[in-house]
Amino acid sequence: MEASRKFEVMKTKSKGVIFDIKKYALHDGPGIRTTVFLKGCPLNCWWCHNPEGQNPEPERIWNNQNTQREIIGREVSVDEVMAEIEKDLIFYDESNGGVTFSGGEPLMQPVFLDHLLIACQEQDLSTTLDTCGYASWETIERIKEKVDIFLYDLKMIDDTKHKKYTGVSVVPILSNLKKLDLEGKNIIIRLPVISGITDTEENISQLIKWTSHLQIVKEINLLPFHKSGFSKYIKLNRENKLLDLDPPSQERLDQLLDTFRSNGFTATIGG
Ligand code: SF4
Repeated sequence: MEASRKFEVMKTKSKGVIFDIKKYALHDGPGIRTTVFLKGCPLNCWWCHNPEGQNPEPERIWNNQNTQREIIGREVSVDEVMAEIEKDLIFYDESNGGVTFSGGEPLMQPVFLDHLLIACQEQDLSTTLDTCGYASWETIERIKEKVDIFLYDLKMIDDTKHKKYTGVSVVPILSNLKKLDLEGKNIIIRLPVISGITDTEENISQLIKWTSHLQIVKEINLLPFHKSGFSKYIKLNRENKLLDLDPPSQERLDQLLDTFRSNGFTATIGG
């Protein structure tokens, strides 16, 4: 995928493409949440466990039996999404939970996302945005006051390696993170722990050095690589470059927790 890939798909109507709505989510922000997965991502990470979220359009994939095809993704209105969200208001209230927008990359559908966030605000719902941060600053400016918590993916600092493993430059991702931090936003960094790629001593020390210049951000979730999305690559007829990679050991994760904590971070596995 080219580094020049477009940041986002501009839609002028309050409809967008989603590929899932997950109820009772416990790892996508505080409390019990509903997570809405918006389709489309400008990145193409080697370890992506939601590859069906990358293409911005609904697409046909092979089903488990490899005999028929099913369609992943559907166009929905803001009202349709809110109707699903509103079914669980009682759980959000009781758990201090709310709604998380994930993907794919939600910022790729900025108008739809903006309208969803406004609808959540009207219901006084807590909002979390799970983002890779690869978007124009104009797009982030549009939505930033309507997001309570940013779950901000940060994978690596070296731009050449970032382009190799994700398809895009890290420069706008770092720039947007710095600006959000300067504005005092509530941000939790999320680091996918991919052995030999993101967990190298070089990358970890570059991450710590770079983030030490941030004013506010001092929390990090480590997201260990796992293979649960692998069957989707077969269904999508897509190459899986990390087929033989193992998840990181508990020992390595504990080392990383110690490293981040000793550098002033609140660090946890998962989030
Ligand atoms: S940013 Fe997330 S959704 Fe997009 S390709 Fe990477 S892992 Fe997949």
